[in-house]
Amino acid sequence: MMTNQDNSTDKTPPTSPPTGLEDASPADLKVNMAAQTLRIQWQDGQSSEFSLSQLRRVCPCATCRTERDKKQENPLQILKTDPTSWRVTNAQLVGHYAIQFIWSDGHNAGIYDFRMLRKLSIDTPGPA
Ligand SMILES: [Zn+2]
Repeated sequence: MMTNQDNSTDKTPPTSPPTGLEDASPADLKVNMAAQTLRIQWQDGQSSEFSLSQLRRVCPCATCRTERDKKQENPLQILKTDPTSWRVTNAQLVGHYAIQFIWSDGHNAGIYDFRMLRKLSIDTPGPA
């Protein structure tokens, strides 16, 4: 008599690495102007919340990247305006892959790729 012993345990191997970077598309996006936060509900059910000032500090546009490079060479900063007073005044989707913020100082060159945001949320998990 044959016993087809199906002794499989509940150990389900993950089908993909848990980075989720391949599928960094948001199911839902909320920009809270009052709290200055961006909340993203990802397709895989995860959600991330960013403070917009945090996003400004990692602004991916060429101008800000250059500024940050300069800061590494010369840490002295002379701020003409208080960076903490920058607020997002508007936001819009760029295609299906990114979000763009318009800041109170007129800055709007930063295009935040969702993969970048997803990575950022993994690298710096927000407050629980
Ligand atoms: Zn920028």
